[in-house]
Amino acid sequence: MTTSRETSVAATVAALSDIVGPQACLTAADDTATYTTDYRKLYHGQAIAVVLPANTDEVSRVMAWCYQHDISVVPQGGNTSLMGGAVPDASGNAVIINLKRMNRVLEVDAVNDTMTVQAGVTLHAARAAAEEATRLFPLRIGSEGSCQIGGNLSTNAGGTAVLRYGNMRDLVLGVEAVLPDGRIYSGLRGLRKDNTGYDLKQLFVGSEGTLGIITAAVLKLMPLPRASSVAFVAVANPAAAVSLLGEAKKTAGQSVTAFELISRPALDLVLAYLGGMKSPMEGAHDWMVLIELTSGSAAESLDQTMVQVLEAGMESGLVLDAAIAASGADAQNFWRIREEISDAQTRTGGSIKCDVSVPLSRIANFIAEASAAVLALEPSARMVVYGHMGDGNVHFNPLRPADRDSKEFLAAHYKTISHAVDSLAHAAGGSISAEHGIGVAKRDDLARFKTPVELELMWQIKRALDPKNLLNPAKVLPAQ
Ligand SMILES: Cc1cc2nc3c(=O)[nH]c(=O)nc-3n(C[C@H](O)[C@H](O)[C@H](O)COP(=O)(O)OP(=O)(O)OC[C@H]3O[C@@H](n4cnc5c(N)ncnc54)[C@H](O)[C@@H]3O)c2cc1C
Repeated sequence: MTTSRETSVAATVAALSDIVGPQACLTAADDTATYTTDYRKLYHGQAIAVVLPANTDEVSRVMAWCYQHDISVVPQGGNTSLMGGAVPDASGNAVIINLKRMNRVLEVDAVNDTMTVQAGVTLHAARAAAEEATRLFPLRIGSEGSCQIGGNLSTNAGGTAVLRYGNMRDLVLGVEAVLPDGRIYSGLRGLRKDNTGYDLKQLFVGSEGTLGIITAAVLKLMPLPRASSVAFVAVANPAAAVSLLGEAKKTAGQSVTAFELISRPALDLVLAYLGGMKSPMEGAHDWMVLIELTSGSAAESLDQTMVQVLEAGMESGLVLDAAIAASGADAQNFWRIREEISDAQTRTGGSIKCDVSVPLSRIANFIAEASAAVLALEPSARMVVYGHMGDGNVHFNPLRPADRDSKEFLAAHYKTISHAVDSLAHAAGGSISAEHGIGVAKRDDLARFKTPVELELMWQIKRALDPKNLLNPAKVLPAQ
């Protein structure tokens, strides 16, 4: 005997298979497992099916069918979200729409300095396509091989070059998106000026798949850098790092492309994780920064500019020691140290991830206060603090003491530590999520840190676009 739920699941699978083809409608547990579990393996959901549409029309028809039959839909890109936003809950009542088959670069317009891509193009492929046309698509994040442009837009991704180029919101000119009821919003325009009313495309940026499924986008391209200089620099403390950034901006202006803070425990973790790799500097320092200068002009000697910045820093006591990359390989090694911190933490286990931003003028004070608050709760916690300090963003990720079990540490401290850190960031005029989004992980916290008016406006927008609350439900917006 079949139940009515089994009948409706079977009918859904049949209808969706009709639209995308049976091979693009996955239902077997072995086939769906990688789509129903998040990157960090913290969230395990279930789905009626994972649908892999080939084009916008198929997305639209799948959405219309689900809308008519009251079936929830979870949009998914590369599934690299750190907030659990791209996987369904455990009810098994949702359909996942993964965009990976929509992976074509549709046009590179080198005169207009724009590129039109389908949403399933990986960030790596988008950057490569731009480079082929001697242009730069400047978004740079550690997950670039897997994450997709649609996911980058939906999370308003940031990364290591925001200081110079802005985040994803600043890098997009046009969006095409399918609305929850299947209608298509066509905003694929490559215009830098367009004041014809509300900027609707920005609604989809940073909304984490709760308002529509992004199917294509027009992205801005920049001149390809032709000169660069990278330095690994020891500084006395975060306040010295902020002052050094000021010096760098004064001397190198727009060339300052990345300014990344690294605490000693973060460096130790990554050196242990990578084995043979050595610190670029002799001696142990508590705080370091990775500075990158770039320029579109090959004539510029950025190493000379870097030396000027560092010498000024040494004279004023901000810089304790420094190494300038002597080759491309050196520069890559410096960057590797920075980029592997995230995976080194995942491997070690037991880190409490707080991705916060505060105004640059208050960041040093915030780090001191938050460190004191964490150490008061757990005196042996390792302070893994790093990130995109140049734009006010730090990954403030206290790590379990070396001799403590990771599960036990997280159970004892996750809530208290993350609430303490978030509260201090908020009090400093900051944000509890700088670039990773809200997803499920921070959904309840949003209710504590947004005003009632902000929450009500967010819900009004959600209801206007998704009156049945079917698109990525129970993500981002706290329950009302
Ligand atoms: C090693 C590592 C390093 C990282 N570094 C950074 C960093 O420096 N900066 C940073 O900002 N992030 C970083 N991240 C987080 C993550 O990679 C980004 O949030 C990325 O933008 C997510 O893209 P994705 O395609 O994987 O999206 P997914 O994880 O698949 O989805 C993320 C959210 O977007 C929604 N979504 C996905 N595609 C679409 C679409 N086409 N239309 C509508 N909604 C959609 C999903 O429903 C979900 O809510 C990192 C992650 C890892 C694993």
